[in-house]
Amino acid sequence: MMKTCNICTICNSATLIHRQNLRTLVVMAGVLDVLLRIHVERQQDVPTDHVQWEQLGKLVALVAEPKPLLEAGVTQGTGLADNVAKHWLGTFDSLCLNCGFLLMDEPDDPAPG
Ligand SMILES: [Zn+2]
Repeated sequence: MMKTCNICTICNSATLIHRQNLRTLVVMAGVLDVLLRIHVERQQDVPTDHVQWEQLGKLVALVAEPKPLLEAGVTQGTGLADNVAKHWLGTFDSLCLNCGFLLMDEPDDPAPG
């Protein structure tokens, strides 16, 4: 089950993020990194006087390409997400991105098994 971002009880910011959402964020960052790298590679020999929205359109078009760009990004992001879960969260379930507060899930949450 996906959990929404909660308010941190320490700093009152809405930046307390559950491990599942943290993983999704990191995987998305991996996809973005792959898209940006390929986009930049393709712009190496292209003139630099671009019109408004041109580059964003080309970047978005990369997402629709049949090449395994998204898979490469997911693989890259998953590797980092595993390390984030291991080194940042440890046995905790949520992390506040603002203040670093770590939190366990409530004991009344239904646990699988
Ligand atoms: Zn906080």
